[in-house]
Amino acid sequence: MPEQVQQAVSNQEIAAQMEYAGRAKSLLSQRYSHPPMAYVHSFGCQQNQSDGEKIKGLLAQIGYGFTDQVENADLVIYNTCAVRENAQDRVFGNVGALKPVKQERPDMLIGLCGCMMQQNSVSEKIKKSYPYVDLVFGTHALHLLPELLFRRVSGEKRQFSNAEGPGRIVEGLPLRRDGSIKANLPVMYGCDNFCSYCVVPYVRGRERSRRPEDILSEARELVRQGYREITLLGQNVNSYGKGLPEPVDFSDLLREINRIEGDFQIRFMTSHPKDCTRKLIETIADCEKVCRHIHLPVQSGSNRILKAMNRRYTVEGYLELIDYARKCIPGITFSSDIIVGFPGETYEEFRQTVELIKRVRYHTLYTFIYSPREGTKAASMEDPIPEKEKSRWLRELLAEQDVIRGELQNNLIGKTIRVLADGEGKSGEGWISGRTASNDIVEFIAPKETIGSFITVEIERALNWASFGKLK
Ligand code: SAH
Ligand code: SF4
Repeated sequence: MPEQVQQAVSNQEIAAQMEYAGRAKSLLSQRYSHPPMAYVHSFGCQQNQSDGEKIKGLLAQIGYGFTDQVENADLVIYNTCAVRENAQDRVFGNVGALKPVKQERPDMLIGLCGCMMQQNSVSEKIKKSYPYVDLVFGTHALHLLPELLFRRVSGEKRQFSNAEGPGRIVEGLPLRRDGSIKANLPVMYGCDNFCSYCVVPYVRGRERSRRPEDILSEARELVRQGYREITLLGQNVNSYGKGLPEPVDFSDLLREINRIEGDFQIRFMTSHPKDCTRKLIETIADCEKVCRHIHLPVQSGSNRILKAMNRRYTVEGYLELIDYARKCIPGITFSSDIIVGFPGETYEEFRQTVELIKRVRYHTLYTFIYSPREGTKAASMEDPIPEKEKSRWLRELLAEQDVIRGELQNNLIGKTIRVLADGEGKSGEGWISGRTASNDIVEFIAPKETIGSFITVEIERALNWASFGKLK
């Protein structure tokens, strides 16, 4: 039997959870005199947001309505992120703030899940120091939510589920999507890359790809429902397909989704530079629905640091990819993640990162100061540069990026571009906001009915955070 099939949660297991959902629903109707309400907040990356939609789907099945105020909630769930320390601290802060709320309303339930909860040290800390938390479940146990909730509501002790293991594929869970214009579509889970600073492979398990037919049928359904943008998600979409019984890679998948008829566009993230092939670039060039933009995180502009990060590409190889993409796809834009202050990084090495961003001229940078993560290789490396100095480096980098961004934004003035109108603008009454292929914000005056459609805007002025124009 192919490995991938063994990794799937079976239909019977899902059916058992649906049965628990029904039983939890009837217990909750006895517990509360009103329809129960849930507050669900997901921290961190799109993958976590996507998991949050599954959590909400399961809760809807159990009969919960949803509120965006903790004060009105009978169940509060924090879907946590472990990628950096400040994300983790915020979760502890929020959970601490729930203590007096729960004292006042003891029948309120509190659940914690996601990447932090997959770590034993965190789950133990919650067990010991946060006795008012009812449910703790890691990324591998998301689909067990109905059972855990049922057990707790039926009077069993606090529920903890963070079993270790490679992780499995779960298909067929109910979903409650956050938006009606843009949708996230996970194509794979987990990560096998073990970049030396990163906790993700430890908390999300091994790389595993969804079957192409499952992805395609979800994509078709999204298009049928009128979604205008689909973002294909994975920690490293470029290794999609490894371990599947059929020979398929990410470029093949992209081509198949591009073939679906309808007025929609495709994005994807994240693309690891070490696996970003010329075939992928040529596929983007060929597929008219794929946005002319790649999020291609470089992390550092120093070959010594890239090696210490275990990124397995060089600055030269990275720049060759950028140049090839620019040659094949005129007008393509890039964004990147950058880590400043990796252990042992010198000021000169940091400056190489600045030189790289000046060379590539990214539309958007997501910048982070290195944060040591327990259990990773980098956490035990010498790290002599003080945090204050790293913050100064980061400000230096951001100032350079601001100049680049300003120039790129100014270049838009006078251009006519296609945007997806996705909500009300920030510029006042009548203004609508949209996104370009580079995911940049454009605001324009238009009827509210334009929200959810592609329109053309002529850009008249530009600031760093957005540009402004009129309908063409
Ligand atoms: N799979 C994606 C990234 C997932 S994490 C990729 O490989 O590109 C998102 C970003 O968080 C990373 O790209 C990195 O820039 C940052 N990050 C991850 N671990 C970090 C750490 N320990 N300290 C600071 N930034 C980190
Ligand atoms: Fe983390 Fe590297 Fe995997 Fe991205 S590719 S999730 S940075 S280990």
